[in-house]
Amino acid sequence: MEKILKEVLDTNRKYTNYGQVASYIPELKNARRDDLGICIVDKDNNIYKVGNCNTKFTIQSVSKTIVLAMALMDNEWTHVFSKVGMEPSGDPFNSIMKLETNDTKKPCNPMINAGAIVTTSLIKGSSFADKEERMLNFFRRLAKNDNIGINYDVYKSEKMSGDRNRAMAYLLKNDGFIQGNVEEVLDLYFKQCSIEIDAVDLARIGMNLASYGIDIENGERVMSERVSRMVKTFMMTCGMYDASGEFAIKVGIPAKSGVGGGIMASVPNRMGIGVYGPALDKKGNSIAGVKMLEDLSHRLNLNIF
Ligand code: GLN
Repeated sequence: MEKILKEVLDTNRKYTNYGQVASYIPELKNARRDDLGICIVDKDNNIYKVGNCNTKFTIQSVSKTIVLAMALMDNEWTHVFSKVGMEPSGDPFNSIMKLETNDTKKPCNPMINAGAIVTTSLIKGSSFADKEERMLNFFRRLAKNDNIGINYDVYKSEKMSGDRNRAMAYLLKNDGFIQGNVEEVLDLYFKQCSIEIDAVDLARIGMNLASYGIDIENGERVMSERVSRMVKTFMMTCGMYDASGEFAIKVGIPAKSGVGGGIMASVPNRMGIGVYGPALDKKGNSIAGVKMLEDLSHRLNLNIF
């Protein structure tokens, strides 16, 4: 397996020359554009990794999957889906447009910023600190890594430059999709995006979803089977933003990307895959990361359809 991964990495390294490292959050532009790594954790808990798999980066939108799982565990599902929809938006991840033009004004799905701000607002806790702690602990549990924490430089950078998210959050409050203190919801959202992980963490989280919510190491249930199915389904239909259809055709694996350059993929009953490559295409997906997943999907016959 390591040999295959090395071939995948070497073949697709050329794509790190294309695209741009994200800079709309100023702190993200410090990433090294030629870093590239891929890690697999399989159902027998074997771990295979090549390239920059220990390089830390912020999870960004990949966090939307985990926070969705939490929202579904903390609330009645009918309540969650009265606040956020189930349909791909076909628009960029940070688009505000459909919050005005949709009949219901409800965010299309939890994998775009507007929908994710809603799911973040649904996390339960006795105080802000308690919500933050619960969230971090869930990420740590899924990644099996107690050292996971927040990158405060990225967090501050996001908070400072996050006016588009701020605008959406106030609109969502105005239309009744989030309750309470908007700045507090945004703060939690910026923090979840600024959680620092590596490709190995992403592969482990992906494996928890691939095993339908069972921790393969100790047999414990980390989320219900139905929640794990919903998260993977949203990854399949909406996880790669407005490139989700093309990704489904070419790669055929549930996956979620983030503008930090990470992609988490989950192959049901088989493996979790974590990818890192910070140079992004115009839609915000890692160019070399997508190419590696496409190549790997063909070599290992991972397409779920
Ligand atoms: N923190 C980023 C934002 O809110 C996450 C976006 C992303 O990864 N696509 O803009």
